[in-house]
Amino acid sequence: MNQTVKELSSFLSTPKKIIITMHRDPDADALGSSLGWASYLIKKGHDVTVISPTDYTANLRWLDGIDHVLVYERSSDQGKCKKKIELADLICCLDFSALSRLKDLGKVVQEAAAIKLMIDHHLEPEHFAKWMIWDTNAAATAQLVYALIKEIEGDLPTREIFDIPLAESLYAGIMTDTGSFRHANVTPDVHLAVADLMLTGFDSSRVHRLIYDNAPLSRLQFLGYVLSQKLTVLPEFRTSYMVLTEAELQKFNSSTGETEGIVNYGLQVENVVMSAMFIERKGEVKISFRSVGSFSVRDLASSHFNGGGHKNASGGRSEQSVNETVAYFLSVLPQYQQALLSVD
Ligand code: 5GP
Ligand code: MN
Repeated sequence: MNQTVKELSSFLSTPKKIIITMHRDPDADALGSSLGWASYLIKKGHDVTVISPTDYTANLRWLDGIDHVLVYERSSDQGKCKKKIELADLICCLDFSALSRLKDLGKVVQEAAAIKLMIDHHLEPEHFAKWMIWDTNAAATAQLVYALIKEIEGDLPTREIFDIPLAESLYAGIMTDTGSFRHANVTPDVHLAVADLMLTGFDSSRVHRLIYDNAPLSRLQFLGYVLSQKLTVLPEFRTSYMVLTEAELQKFNSSTGETEGIVNYGLQVENVVMSAMFIERKGEVKISFRSVGSFSVRDLASSHFNGGGHKNASGGRSEQSVNETVAYFLSVLPQYQQALLSVD
């Protein structure tokens, strides 16, 4: 056991007041790892509150414990969140490593007296946490939570601890962050962790359906519109991109979730190795990048779009207009042409 896990484990040997939080617009890894970690800590007798900075998408509403998640952005929850954070002994920060990823909650967490624990797999973390369980080789934060519980509990946690709801939450995180076990981050350890989780006996195919085959018809119609009308391919840069304005989102009555994952379709075009998506929302432009192989969209996002993330999946934002943001993107592409053309 390394020093951090030793200290954490000893800290957790008596009941504590614990907050778990995750990045804004949480995906299945952010929420799944948080709820899985919460489920473990609750079984160990701790008083646990899970706080999401913003609302989450409808296809995650089945996760065990989600009904108790407080949403900081909701005015009805904000006071409760602040009070809980003020009284907390420990704040667990899952699936992010920069406080800006918490939106308005970042300042509250930063100023809190509680000890902070980071569990994360993103590159270049900030050092705001006393304890860091941080590994960029992990495919998902849920995989790190799985390994952490095993490390604290020894190799054979009981089925009371590793029950079906906990296993499903962690599985959901690993499944989505690996693109259903397709991405370059899939290692033997990923499959070993998943095999162990599946031994609890949950229906993994059902988890897949709940997340991916659970969309309102409007989402598919929206996807059809985006792919047929909004996808531009730049063969000379092996890049594709999509731009969505606020008006278009309103027309399709699209909530945050309905654009989630659409950027991945851009990579399905032959010969394309980078896909970008620009979404105009609430006075800012949210950008998602995806790439394959050696091309790092994290470098692109952090150098030009106030963002970051992983080598092959990153994001950023811009306060310029959507047209200016896209023009800027097109203007920096030539710097990356060599790197894009040399991807295997
Ligand atoms: P998505 O495109 O799904 O919103 O984000 C993909 C990945 O990029 C996320 O898992 C996260 O690591 C990273 N990411 C997205 N937006 C931002 C951002 O604004 N700042 C940073 N640092 N990373 C981001
Ligand atoms: Mn993740």
